[in-house]
Amino acid sequence: MGLMNTSRMKSPWIIHVNCTACNGCDIEVVAALTPMFDVERFGIVNVGNPKHADVMVVTGCVNPKTARVLKNIYDQMPEPKLVLAIGACGGTGGIFAECYNVLGGPDKVIPVDAYVPGCPPRPEAIIDGAVAALGLFEAKAKAMKEKAKKAAEKAKAEA
Ligand code: SF4
Repeated sequence: MGLMNTSRMKSPWIIHVNCTACNGCDIEVVAALTPMFDVERFGIVNVGNPKHADVMVVTGCVNPKTARVLKNIYDQMPEPKLVLAIGACGGTGGIFAECYNVLGGPDKVIPVDAYVPGCPPRPEAIIDGAVAALGLFEAKAKAMKEKAKKAAEKAKAEA
């Protein structure tokens, strides 16, 4: 594993996105970031700029308006990146799933790597989910490398 990916796993920077959550999950995410739970011991730092973030922590379900915003934020994050969907709404739309304007969970718009169930999940579960999901960075980096290698080979063959 390269230096960049080791750094990502040892100190993942996260961005928290509320995608029409009722605020219950957001309070638990914010609680997880307080000194009481001390996520900095895992090197986890909350940032406000998607261009600096390795992991998106998304709460709530998606509607046509937030879908555009969610995709825009996701696209600005550098590869390899992880998405962690929080709560029942983050999984399926939760209690709002049948609403006329709800498309479902964030995975209807962007690829989600891990889910933390609950309504809302406790901070310990959110931290657990984030730490478990970090193991996926290596596989993602490897897939990216393979893709780049294949693209280079194809370009060479076409030249
Ligand atoms: S899962 Fe529950 S607490 Fe979280 S946003 Fe949905 S309704 Fe609110």
